Amino acid sequence: MTGCTLCPRRCAINRSKTLGPCGVGEDLKVGAIVIHRGEEPPLVTGAGSGAVFFSGCPLKCSYCQNRQISHEADGRDISPEELADYMMLLERKGCSNINLVSPTHLAPGIRRALALAAGHGLDLPVVLNSSGYESIEGLESWMGSADIFLMDLKYGDNETGKTLSRVPDYWDRAREAIEYVWREYGPLQIDPQGRGMKGLIVRHLVLPGMRSNPFAVLEFLADLSPEIPLSIMSQYNPCFYRGALSEMSRPLSLGEYEVVVERAIDLGFGTVFTQDMDSPSTYVPDFSLETPFGDGLRIF
Ligand code: SF4
Repeated sequence: MTGCTLCPRRCAINRSKTLGPCGVGEDLKVGAIVIHRGEEPPLVTGAGSGAVFFSGCPLKCSYCQNRQISHEADGRDISPEELADYMMLLERKGCSNINLVSPTHLAPGIRRALALAAGHGLDLPVVLNSSGYESIEGLESWMGSADIFLMDLKYGDNETGKTLSRVPDYWDRAREAIEYVWREYGPLQIDPQGRGMKGLIVRHLVLPGMRSNPFAVLEFLADLSPEIPLSIMSQYNPCFYRGALSEMSRPLSLGEYEVVVERAIDLGFGTVFTQDMDSPSTYVPDFSLETPFGDGLRIF
């Protein structure tokens, strides 16, 4: 934190004195803790996923649906001890995992909380719910702490990452990150009750006008292995978009979504999670509310 290189931006700033693009200082900061059902089926068995939404984010996606906490860094500071207690509470409430949403820029404090919770007997899989913009050193530091890697592969080229997320090298870094996790962990393993326990799932949100370059994303993943479990998402909602691209100001069409799912099937992927086309209205979080997702128990 005194020369921060936790994400591929490698700002090398002292986070106790200056804020980087991720928008939070050296202390843990949490926007919400929710028992959440809006994840892929193996992640929401039992009461649901114990989702901890961290404030701030190294990416600045112009269409982010979590803008209140990711861009504006809403939330409050929390100690590792307090976070460990919330993790234990999520386990007592029957959650199937601890789901760390955008944890990269706060990794040291989160791992401290996980170690404390493990000392109290926490026995749930830990999900690293990542934008995909990760360094290999950063991922190495999660080995032994995280079990499930739920990783976005947002774009199939660097140029789109520059335009929509304000980083120059998204495609390069995210491909390296996914290759690394795939090599170390393999596909998501599911227990007899249907609960995800360990391994990789890759998410891709299809953007209107195919702006995300989905075919390049799918072809890269298929070359790596069609055994990678894929989640192809339709929940893009233009109400969150702050930018000037006309195609991003409209919803995704059914035809655009279907052609991507068909391409994934043609490429031989064995596990493809899909979403309904009404998903944009289902997943409209408001983190100022008691129930940010319309349902699900908020405990922070
Ligand atoms: S985590 Fe934040 S401060 Fe650290 S390198 Fe990334 S953007 Fe910069």
